[in-house]
Amino acid sequence: MKPYDLPDATWLTRAQHSGWACVFCRAPLSKGAVKAGRAEGMIGAHDMSIDVYACPSCALQLGLIERLPEGAPR
Ligand SMILES: [Zn+2]
Repeated sequence: MKPYDLPDATWLTRAQHSGWACVFCRAPLSKGAVKAGRAEGMIGAHDMSIDVYACPSCALQLGLIERLPEGAPR
């Protein structure tokens, strides 16, 4: 069981769905993105489930990483 909830895949913005933005705060991801898990969801028969990513500060807050990576934006 994860200690946090991922949004439904059908609620993601296009940027989040494409892995360009943090799944939690929508910050654009550049350095230090952390895989946050898999958001799941269906639209009709289409499985929209997709791997999603967190920015370093959300990842830190959620305990996905122990410290900010070198050079990561705060
Ligand atoms: Zn974030």
